[in-house]
Amino acid sequence: MENNKVVKVHYHGYFADTKEVFDSSLSEGREPLTFLVGHGQMIPGFEAEVLGAEVGEKRTFTLEPERAYGHRDENQFADLPFADFPEGIEVGMNFQAEMSGRPIMFTITGIDEEAGNVTCDANHPMAGKTLTFDVEIVSVRDASEEEIAHKHVHGDGGHHH
Ligand code: ZN
Repeated sequence: MENNKVVKVHYHGYFADTKEVFDSSLSEGREPLTFLVGHGQMIPGFEAEVLGAEVGEKRTFTLEPERAYGHRDENQFADLPFADFPEGIEVGMNFQAEMSGRPIMFTITGIDEEAGNVTCDANHPMAGKTLTFDVEIVSVRDASEEEIAHKHVHGDGGHHH
């Protein structure tokens, strides 16, 4: 597989230190993951590690944070008004907010109802983690010109529009 190919992979992702599985396409009811190679759909190291693999090939690799979701940034904390949140929020909950037109996921790390503050961590939940993947290449096909122009996969396993 190489850039501008549409690739289907089965993968099993776990934290390198604890071996705890964080995501797996082999879970019940899951389909293989489909992506367009070379257009930033995947974390950088994932694509780099499967480049050149043939259908049926299996690879296992470990990605340090810089090739996965980056390091944690302690400036990514913010206090937001308690009044802006729905009722029943708890520490550890994830929310999505729009910042400069871009969706940002954040985690609630502190709630001070009296002060009217909710402390949020906008680091990616996987930031700072070293990740190991077992990957098997299920299929590879050429991307269409339209898929390359849109930078995503159409049809089976991709966008329908
Ligand atoms: Zn499209």
